[in-house]
Amino acid sequence: MPGDSLQENGGRIRRVIARIPPRGAPRKINLMLARPNALRMLERFDDTSLAALREMIEASEFRTTIEHEAALLGPGVIRKLHGFGIKIRSVGAKDRITELSAVIKRFGIAPPPGCQGLYVPFDKALYIIVPMAGVTAHELGHALDHALCLVQIPDGFDPLTASLSECERVRPFRTQQDASFAKRVVGNRQAISAYAATNLQEAWAEQVRALTNCNDTGNLFDELSAAKYRAINRESYAFTLGIFLELNGRAFERWRHADVIAA
Ligand SMILES: [Zn+2]
Repeated sequence: MPGDSLQENGGRIRRVIARIPPRGAPRKINLMLARPNALRMLERFDDTSLAALREMIEASEFRTTIEHEAALLGPGVIRKLHGFGIKIRSVGAKDRITELSAVIKRFGIAPPPGCQGLYVPFDKALYIIVPMAGVTAHELGHALDHALCLVQIPDGFDPLTASLSECERVRPFRTQQDASFAKRVVGNRQAISAYAATNLQEAWAEQVRALTNCNDTGNLFDELSAAKYRAINRESYAFTLGIFLELNGRAFERWRHADVIAA
């Protein structure tokens, strides 16, 4: 959950996630069983990316859900994220997120009740709190936004000793750094979901989730699909899909034809 300003953006995000049932509330979880072949497909097309994916996951819980969902992004995107040093961590029922991340602990940005996952650029890590379908895909969208950055967090920058305002000045997302990129993410059209309307970073992450068709019946986030995305904003869809095609290459085309990721 990145933002223009940690505090200002936090308010908007909190208003949206206030609608989501807290951890432990009864819910129906779709464990991605609808697409059990995602990992097999990944292995068939490129087993090095499957190894890369497994190396990225430092999770004691929800491993299967995370693996299946991340695999849907395709081999090239996984290699890009792995090469960039992204880690995927789970926050189990007994875990305290502040113990998992010194950055979160320092800034006191512990996720409010109802938060299902978050991406922390200073950690290059995403934290999966509630393993609902779509959470991993959305947070990996933020990680990809970070990995596509033109200017990275400066060498030697230490978020644990820098002031809050210095941290605010670091712009770790391409949607924040590159005006032409940002313009093409949404363009002049409406956002594809209520959450996507909160800011450009959330728009991008929701669009990545839409491409994977990951939804959860127990989730109050809007249902998204590649088809819905395309119908609402064809230009943005072509732009985001183009990035996926570029990263995944021909293997991704075969994936799409195999309906692992529906067009
Ligand atoms: Zn987000």
